[in-house]
Amino acid sequence: MLPAGRLVRQGAPAAVPGKAECPPMWNDGSVRDPLVDRFGRVATDLRVSVIDRCNFRCTYCMPAEGLPWLDREEILTADEIERLVRTLVASGIREVKLTGGEPTVRPDLPDIVARLRGIDDALELSLTTNGYLLDRLAGPLAEAGLDRVTISCDSLLRHRFAEMTRRDALGRVLSGLRSAATAGLRPIKVNCVVIGGTNDDEAVGFAGLAREADVEVRFIEYMPLDAERRWERDKVVPSAVLRDRINAVHPLATVNGHGPQPATTFRFADGAPGRVGFIASVTEPFCETCNRIRITADGQLRTCLFSLDETDLRTPLRSGATDEDLDAVVREAVGEKWAGHRIDHPDFVRPGRSMSMIGG
Ligand code: SAM
Ligand code: SF4
Repeated sequence: MLPAGRLVRQGAPAAVPGKAECPPMWNDGSVRDPLVDRFGRVATDLRVSVIDRCNFRCTYCMPAEGLPWLDREEILTADEIERLVRTLVASGIREVKLTGGEPTVRPDLPDIVARLRGIDDALELSLTTNGYLLDRLAGPLAEAGLDRVTISCDSLLRHRFAEMTRRDALGRVLSGLRSAATAGLRPIKVNCVVIGGTNDDEAVGFAGLAREADVEVRFIEYMPLDAERRWERDKVVPSAVLRDRINAVHPLATVNGHGPQPATTFRFADGAPGRVGFIASVTEPFCETCNRIRITADGQLRTCLFSLDETDLRTPLRSGATDEDLDAVVREAVGEKWAGHRIDHPDFVRPGRSMSMIGG
């Protein structure tokens, strides 16, 4: 007998690109249609921000003094996160990434992971973190059922790392990376935000890290989502430039174009371990294949990182909405998802909330 509300799988293939999986079915026998928008894109990937606070102050994300934090009662509880994810998994979500703010500063993070693992064994469950607390958390998170981690690291030079994050913590982040590997949270990805004139000379160095540590380093183009609004188009370093620099030293072989995943990924042609990936959100947007939706720490659904509006899920959640009510609210919002961001267009408007408030 399955516990109440746990998903079981049945035989027919799902209409979800890139996933040869079966549709989710509740043990009452109901199967829901996938979450499709008006352009036919299917939402299968959910980012859940579990907290807006952070122990770092990366210059491209947050001011030195932090931001006006959400009150504790504004943030979704572990129960509420579990309920929302359970509902969304029944509507075709296959991957859940926990993020923030810094998710590891939330004390009940292992409990949240265990609850989400309990929804469905086949759910791909990962975490994006600055890595600072992974030394002590990697083991408990792996035991709770986390599959893998993405660790942010923007420089392999101690002083530059300290300047970019406003924390002298490179050694501790690299040691967190080792702890994650030991705990089996693989494959490990490393996110590196590249800012022109700041760290764009480190592409080859990061490719060296990928090869030595057998990780996938993903270079992310700087996006206009920093709280201090210092972003300038001139500071965006096109992924193609970084790719060429690495290719000149370590020849690359394509693994995949981005498809529903944002990164184009390459392995090393000489057979060395590790990979590099490029997330060219600004110069080569991948909106037409976007399969993501996001829930902020205060329970607002966003169908795009750059959305100008949000759909409140917390109010219905706290006022007795049924799973079907929640599903209907999500379905309507996803249906109206826009074609894509227009960062490179003169009519681009920045969203009101910055990256750490949204959940990157
Ligand atoms: N604190 C965690 C971390 O840093 O990994 C998770 C949250 S953070 C907002 C998620 C990702 O967004 C990180 O990889 C971070 O580097 C990236 N990010 C933050 N601000 C950005 C910006 N302005 N442009 C591009 N990426 C950004
Ligand atoms: Fe914190 Fe992550 Fe933003 Fe850096 S990028 S300030 S670690 S939320």
